[in-house]
Amino acid sequence: MEDYNQMWTDLEMDLERHDVLLNALPELYQSTYLVQNNRPRAMAYFDFVISEIHGLRVKELVEHKTKGGKIFGAFCVYVPEEIIVAANGICVGLCAGAEISIARAEQVLPRNICPLIKSAFGFKLEKICPYFQACDLVVGETTCDGKKKTWEILSDYVPMYVMELPQQKREVDRALWTGELLAFKQKVEDITGNKITASALSKATTLLNSRRAALKHLYDLRKADPVPISGLDALLPVQVSFFDDPLRLTQKVNELCAELESRINNKIGVTPPNTPRILISGSPMVIPNWKIHSIIESSGAVVVCEESCTGTRLFSSLNTGINENDLDAQIKFIAERQLKTNCACFTPNEERLEEILDLCREYKVDGVINYSLSFCQPYMLEAVKIKKYLDQKKIPLLTLETDYGLGDVEQIRTRVQAFIEMLSKK
Ligand code: SF4
Ligand code: SF4
Repeated sequence: MEDYNQMWTDLEMDLERHDVLLNALPELYQSTYLVQNNRPRAMAYFDFVISEIHGLRVKELVEHKTKGGKIFGAFCVYVPEEIIVAANGICVGLCAGAEISIARAEQVLPRNICPLIKSAFGFKLEKICPYFQACDLVVGETTCDGKKKTWEILSDYVPMYVMELPQQKREVDRALWTGELLAFKQKVEDITGNKITASALSKATTLLNSRRAALKHLYDLRKADPVPISGLDALLPVQVSFFDDPLRLTQKVNELCAELESRINNKIGVTPPNTPRILISGSPMVIPNWKIHSIIESSGAVVVCEESCTGTRLFSSLNTGINENDLDAQIKFIAERQLKTNCACFTPNEERLEEILDLCREYKVDGVINYSLSFCQPYMLEAVKIKKYLDQKKIPLLTLETDYGLGDVEQIRTRVQAFIEMLSKK
């Protein structure tokens, strides 16, 4: 592997702490991913991306900056990547899934907020994330209280811009969000020095829609029985899509899909017939948060779908009928597409319940595991409604709440195994 020390030094990273993070990843990846049997050959690309996680792609970002391009960091799918790409910017997801930075974050932030926020904030404090270090602007949003108050603190460390996401979906909220997109467009133009034209926005939307379509195709293929890919392997391209080059990622996902189609045609699955099929619903899971998938799939079940922003919510709707010449109409389209993303920060959020039920049917799910990150109030509270709703529909549900630590793995495994056993007897 290329030596990236100079690049990381130039990005003002703490190389010693960074080594601790990077050294832990190969072992975790080996014991979680590489031990799986019968993996699709096309997963080799994603294995490579993980082996280069802070290398090759970061080098591309640095080259982009050298040519005058700008990097934008985001923590939510409501940040409109189309607008960034239309101004020749690159958008990278900064949500973090590692425990290593949490202790440092807790020296500043309260302990009882969700690990996703603490992990990401700790990455910045510890200077161990090159994506964070490369950012010219970090874009936050007001989805949950934990995030919106953290942005105020994070702005002491990095240039921040905050978008106000409404929490209902009335006409007035749609107008507010459309106005936020227009204000953000202006901000992106100011930072990049590039005017966003209708044609550039339309091209960016087409590019990102092709990535969404490829990921949707991957998910659609998981509806097959037997399922041609493990949940762990299917999760990875979604996680990687938050930082990889959109065009390359789309090509690689399409290659993976072609292989899965051939597997389906030949009735090749990754698990034996009648393996219980699980839908995971809830908080996003970002690299290297593979804990729940790993427990489920080493306990005799297979994850066939994630109802999450690292899952179906990432591509649940596409802009169609884009008017290439009308910028305002395109912005409205982006707003409408995004407002179909049923994050638990919205109230009421009945559409999410219906979406979960639809997914259960489409993916022929035997049971749902609702996953909330500890202290994530929106998802923990919404789990109460999900339980009531799925009980009425007679769909078995297990509710889990956990963080990034491994201390509760055996306790969760016991609960998951009991749940799977119950599903197997049905
Ligand atoms: S779960 Fe909500 S806050 Fe998180 S990325 Fe999705 S939409 Fe944004
Ligand atoms: S996981 Fe929950 S608490 Fe954490 S940032 Fe997302 S919505 Fe907020």
